[in-house]
Amino acid sequence: MFWTLLFLVFLFGALVGSFLNVVIYRIPRGESVVFPASHCPHCGTNLKPWHNVPLFSWLFLRGRCAFCKAPISTQYPIIELLSAAMAAALYLKLGLSAAMVGTTGVFLTLLALSVIDFYYKMVPDSLNLFALTLAVVSAWSPQMLVENLKNALLFAGGFALLRFYVSYYLYVKLKRMSPNLKQASWVKNYNTLPAVIEAMGEGDIMIGATMGALLGIELGLAAVFLSALLALPAMLLRNETDASKQVPFIPFLATATWIVYLFDTPIARFVDALYA
Ligand SMILES: [Zn+2]
Repeated sequence: MFWTLLFLVFLFGALVGSFLNVVIYRIPRGESVVFPASHCPHCGTNLKPWHNVPLFSWLFLRGRCAFCKAPISTQYPIIELLSAAMAAALYLKLGLSAAMVGTTGVFLTLLALSVIDFYYKMVPDSLNLFALTLAVVSAWSPQMLVENLKNALLFAGGFALLRFYVSYYLYVKLKRMSPNLKQASWVKNYNTLPAVIEAMGEGDIMIGATMGALLGIELGLAAVFLSALLALPAMLLRNETDASKQVPFIPFLATATWIVYLFDTPIARFVDALYA
């Protein structure tokens, strides 16, 4: 029974992952995620149902389109496998429950947001708001619903304030190097052109709210700290003045949230020990 359920959850995760591939490909292009049916991006031929089986189709077709033999990105099976593994891990942690289904939805949406941020440097509001709403309502009791909402609001506020501080710091620092640098958009100076120096996207604020709802204050702060640690090597290697080389931050926030959520007990014990 246990193994059957685990296998079904894994399969469900792979199916959602297959849908995430569609989301990741279509949302940044402004296309509908429902219509038209799945087709090869190279030759445009509609896929047959058996070309659409998560993981197996890619292996069976040896990573090539069945019609034009154009290579299919390894991103497809990787996202499917990752989604399946994440769903299975959450099942092992939470058991089969409404909270488990909701939380799986939140983390798989964060996965799609991470990949989209990484490739396209964009954060679609549709996915971001979906993750946030689901994170708040995935609570298992009305008391938790209020608690989740409170934590979401706290973290959204914290992220928004952090954005002001970091943007101001970057502006002051970079102003010395390039004197005609523009200030951030919220600095009321109607003579200047739109801003160029704004640290963190607005999208990160919503991700912060999602993290607060999922993790609560103590673990949420641990996740923010961990994400900064994870991002540090990439931050040190980047070129600060070149906007096109900005480090996408959502993959780091999402990875840290996943790690802290999965290992909440030992991490909470570690954080408590720091204060003791
Ligand atoms: Zn093709």
